[in-house]
Amino acid sequence: MKCEELLAMLNEYVDGPIDPGICEAFEKHLAGCNPCQVVVDNIRQTITLYKNGQPYELPQEFRKHLHTVLRQQFVKQAHR
Ligand SMILES: [Zn+2]
Repeated sequence: MKCEELLAMLNEYVDGPIDPGICEAFEKHLAGCNPCQVVVDNIRQTITLYKNGQPYELPQEFRKHLHTVLRQQFVKQAHR
């Protein structure tokens, strides 16, 4: 898996559950890629913070925000 693929997958992570098979490839890439670890940590923290005491469903605006962040990361990775 490449960084670009992982970041593209994060878009799905924001929208809902990921296929467990995909998750494995995801974790494998993460284990060996520090820049992606940082990105995923940020996204996970943001989602966890939001979920605390809030409904599980992410509001449209929040999802849009995450997608924007992901797109920026995606562009950064692609031009490394
Ligand atoms: Zn990576």
